[in-house]
Amino acid sequence: MINKWIVGILQYLPKNFVWIFSQRYIAGEDMRDAVKVTKKFNAQGIRTTMDLLGEFQTSAEKVEYYKKEYIKLVEESVREGLDNSFSVKPTMFGLLLDAELCYSNIREIVSKAASHGRMVRIDMEDSQCTSMEIEMYKRLLTEFPQNVGLVLQAYLKRTLEDLKDLAIFDKGRRLINIRICKGIYNEPVEVAFKDKEEVNGNFIIDLEFMLRNHMFAAIATHDRKLVRHAYRLIEQYEIKSDRFEFQMLYGVTPDLRKSIMDKGFAMRVYVPYGKDWFNYSIRRLKENPRMISHMIRALFVRG
Ligand SMILES: Cc1cc2nc3c(=O)[nH]c(=O)nc-3n(C[C@H](O)[C@H](O)[C@H](O)COP(=O)(O)OP(=O)(O)OC[C@H]3O[C@@H](n4cnc5c(N)ncnc54)[C@H](O)[C@@H]3O)c2cc1C
Repeated sequence: MINKWIVGILQYLPKNFVWIFSQRYIAGEDMRDAVKVTKKFNAQGIRTTMDLLGEFQTSAEKVEYYKKEYIKLVEESVREGLDNSFSVKPTMFGLLLDAELCYSNIREIVSKAASHGRMVRIDMEDSQCTSMEIEMYKRLLTEFPQNVGLVLQAYLKRTLEDLKDLAIFDKGRRLINIRICKGIYNEPVEVAFKDKEEVNGNFIIDLEFMLRNHMFAAIATHDRKLVRHAYRLIEQYEIKSDRFEFQMLYGVTPDLRKSIMDKGFAMRVYVPYGKDWFNYSIRRLKENPRMISHMIRALFVRG
């Protein structure tokens, strides 16, 4: 109850106060911060996926600016010799304004990344975007079979059907690369499971489908039960190490990250950066069970 209340008021608090809690989730405001964080992870044998924050853009100038920034990011990560991929949110490139313009912007970024043997993953946003983002993935996959991936969300009731459809689209070529996560947006009950156990159950069903159908599975969760379940599926189906990796968010459960790596499994950390960090941070703070104690501590430190 108190938690819900705090979450409710968070978005109305001054930005610099929210930053106190947010900084653990964000590499920084500048591209150089993300490069620095990636170098640190790479030195520990961890890959990253770099994400420039700034979703749901409504101006053509901003869309153009973000495209250029991503192109610069690709060039910078190549110049620095980083071991990373890139995550993009289509609404940053105007998905809800002009889907064709959005496609051509993302295509340019994927083309640039592909020319350096790098990969771009399309993040999954709220359910108004799901079908459009899957279609965009299929189109890009046809042109860049090794350089593009997608995210699907286990809370959506449609996800298993989407996976089946992608398996048919793949025609046994083994190109499909999916990050499976629980899903973070507030969706209506008509389209999404609301019960935690149902979401977890669907996560396992979706993951099992991916592993049995030779898709590349990026297993994105900090839920220890799901991680243990993933271990069992990997063992049961004797999945080779080049068909999966674990993924986690920057600033979340570093102890679990280490224990997965100690087992010899590949790990990739999602590294977000940029000046537009507010919405992303609010989403992270809402799912942090220890937020209240962090807030109280911060109030005392400041007071
Ligand atoms: C690499 C990656 C990429 C993602 N991409 C997308 C995407 O494209 N679209 C989308 O909708 N969602 C995305 N998500 C978010 C995802 O959908 C979940 O909201 C998020 O991962 C929390 O779910 P969980 O599986 O960790 O389980 P939860 O049950 O939420 O968390 C399990 C445990 O992890 C810890 N934990 C989780 N979150 C936090 C936090 N913020 N701070 C501190 N501790 C925490 C807690 O101990 C918690 O008990 C992504 C997640 C990851 C890891």
